[in-house]
Amino acid sequence: MSDTKTLLLLPGDGIGPEVMTQAKRVLDWLQKTGRASFTVFEDHAGGAAIDAYGVPVTDATVAKAKEVDAVLFGSVGGPKWDKVPFEIRPEAGLLRLRTELQVFANLRPAKVFDALADASSLKPELVRGLDLMIVRECIGGIYFGTPRGIETLPNGEQRGINTEIYTTHEIQRVGRVAFELARKRQGRVCSVEKANVMEAGLLWRQVMTKLQADEYPDVALSHMYADNCAMQLAKNPKQFDVIVTGNLFGDILSDLAAMLTGSLGLLPSATLGAPNATTGRRAGFYEPIHGSAPDIAGKGVANPLAQILSLALLLRYSFDMEAEATLIETAVERVLAKAGRTPDIAVPGRPVISTTEMGDALLAELEAI
Ligand code: NAD
Repeated sequence: MSDTKTLLLLPGDGIGPEVMTQAKRVLDWLQKTGRASFTVFEDHAGGAAIDAYGVPVTDATVAKAKEVDAVLFGSVGGPKWDKVPFEIRPEAGLLRLRTELQVFANLRPAKVFDALADASSLKPELVRGLDLMIVRECIGGIYFGTPRGIETLPNGEQRGINTEIYTTHEIQRVGRVAFELARKRQGRVCSVEKANVMEAGLLWRQVMTKLQADEYPDVALSHMYADNCAMQLAKNPKQFDVIVTGNLFGDILSDLAAMLTGSLGLLPSATLGAPNATTGRRAGFYEPIHGSAPDIAGKGVANPLAQILSLALLLRYSFDMEAEATLIETAVERVLAKAGRTPDIAVPGRPVISTTEMGDALLAELEAI
């Protein structure tokens, strides 16, 4: 990778452009202070692309996304495009980008900032200091398996069908991401499936066990059934370091883990592909987990921190800029501890501030550290 890193920004719809503007200020700050040099491209995606180009993502945008070192995405969708044909709905653009980039490992950190421990639905002592990572396989499993569909039986009754399928290499590639992450964290992976009732889960367990023995003997591997994992996340979430699981269970468990942290506006995600054979670079797609929040779009009150924390993940996983990623996370922690709050995380006694003011507070903190 050359010293100048290339980035594609796709702000999308609703609050996407508002929160992306604040992430761009952080990018500018990193450049201005000589910490990094970026070449930044920007384009439309989702509803904005439908308006501009008639499709939710163009071939040219997909090509650019493949060419750059990483993509920072906002969010797409909104009532304006509710009536467009299903194949060109805003979300179809997002799915196409993920599929074309072959990003298969969705990383969802659930980290509780000290200042927000009271905002969790669990008791503060259960979540204070929580820092777990869920790695969800996201382009395989039951959401993509065939046969699928709804068919009518001879007796007139209907039958809905979906198929859970995982191959050895699909399990191995997401497993490697989890083991490698664990090596940089507390060195523990919990692999989650339903091996007791599903053959695909049994294979998942066998492949993970062999992968650990062959390639990651230094990482501790445990196994857990998905239903128990849901209970354990609600009961004692701090027992986990890295959880790795398939698409369906990951979808549900990562939303559960997200809510332990108390706020949608604070949760970033990263989705990674396999390392490129020549460059070693993984495709990286980074986005907040929240949507386009049409109910607050245009009001200047969206919390930009999830978008900014997604940028921190991008720096860490695509650019190996651990120091800068940590710097941003520390600045967020400090802002939450003392600055005003956007309405979604407002507390009595602290001023309620706008999206831009939250950006101002973060930049001031970055300057101060
Ligand atoms: P949402 O995440 O957009 O909003 C849920 C609630 O959280 C809303 O009340 C919203 O105001 C609030 N919220 C979300 N982000 C916030 C932020 N940064 N700061 C403050 N409050 C915030 O989910 P939804 O309402 O179910 O979906 C709205 C649209 O977003 C839909 O069109 C949906 O398809 C789309 N969506 C897109 C993505 C994506 O692009 N990856 C993800 C989820 C939903």
